[in-house]
Amino acid sequence: MTDFDWQGYALETQAIRAGHRRTHEDEHSIPIFATSSYVFDSAEQASLRFTGKQAGNIYSRFTNPTVTALQERLALMEKGERCLAFASGMAAIMAVGMALLKAGDHVLCSRSVFGNTVLTFQNYFAKFGVTTDFVNLTDLAAWEAAIKPNTRFLFLETPSNPLIEIADIRALADIAHKHGCLLVVDNVFCTPVLQQPLALGADLVVQSTTKYIDGQGRCVGGAVIGSEALIEKDIYPYLRTGGATMSPFNAWVFLSGLETLAVRMKTHCDNAFELAKWLERQPAVAKVHYPGLASHAQHELAKRQQSQFGGVVSFELAGGKEQAWRLIDATRMLSITANLGDVKTTITHPATTTHGRLSEEARAEAGIEDSLVRISVGLENLEDIKADLARGLE
Ligand SMILES: *Cc1c(COP(=O)(O)O)cnc(C)c1O
Repeated sequence: MTDFDWQGYALETQAIRAGHRRTHEDEHSIPIFATSSYVFDSAEQASLRFTGKQAGNIYSRFTNPTVTALQERLALMEKGERCLAFASGMAAIMAVGMALLKAGDHVLCSRSVFGNTVLTFQNYFAKFGVTTDFVNLTDLAAWEAAIKPNTRFLFLETPSNPLIEIADIRALADIAHKHGCLLVVDNVFCTPVLQQPLALGADLVVQSTTKYIDGQGRCVGGAVIGSEALIEKDIYPYLRTGGATMSPFNAWVFLSGLETLAVRMKTHCDNAFELAKWLERQPAVAKVHYPGLASHAQHELAKRQQSQFGGVVSFELAGGKEQAWRLIDATRMLSITANLGDVKTTITHPATTTHGRLSEEARAEAGIEDSLVRISVGLENLEDIKADLARGLE
């Protein structure tokens, strides 16, 4: 629906040019349409728009030109037919559940997903009679064995946080489809630059645009991408009614974020790979989790499935929580925050922050040690990042 068909263009080109329908003002940069509603030429046109007989904007809860531009661009980049933007990544995940699930349904979810994703299924959908089982992300047999006749979809994140494990998207899509279920993939860690789950057989992708797509830690947003059929029939009516809409200002920030995403991801990944190799050589470091390393259990799968290995590295120190906290507190430049995908390098202690609400047993089951530290590697000079860590590793 753009003024130009960007389908045949490369991702880097789509990221910069797709989605912008130039207005009569001939602007070069995409405008922010700060308007809540739209005006009709006549009572008849208003009626045609409201009844869906004529395409066009009605109200910005469900369509806004700046948000539509982001949706069109992101749909192309993720190799989907349609995208809908939401107020946050969690709003996008909630939308998938609200649109697809009913009482009596079952969800099969990776144990290694974002904490609030676990709570969405475990605390909220459970209230309305939807049950969820959690399985080991990398164990294909466990996924298949846990599918029930009422399983509606499988939900996973790959690479996982904070242990950076890799799931075989194609194999899980095949398993899901064999049993009449859908596969939903949270593609936040890779972005479409590194991995396109829809091209590997997934049915829906969810994004938190808050992370790498913004890239500079400014705005919160999310998206759902998939086939025209799923988005139009299931997700769009929920967006229109549920109302967790992305603001045009945020969409405008994410549009400019997408324009530099490919070049940023390359440096995030290069820096992370170099940092992982350097960490592996440090005597104070017991284990490094990074799929680019030959020591990573799914190294071959990561090579096949992703174009690069990602910008997040985690590692275990030889000591315990005290050593981890001492390392974090010895940094001067790195930001102590759980956010990721920012140009600024961030450092966090998962066991006492992002995963602090889990019970000790649940953390142990998930393999999140007290000595684990996670770094989202930014775009500062790598030597400065190493120097900031070296102080605490001595
Ligand atoms: C941050 C994040 C989310 C949630 O996104 P918000 O925009 O914070 O709501 C979901 N999944 C992953 C992997 C994330 O990192």
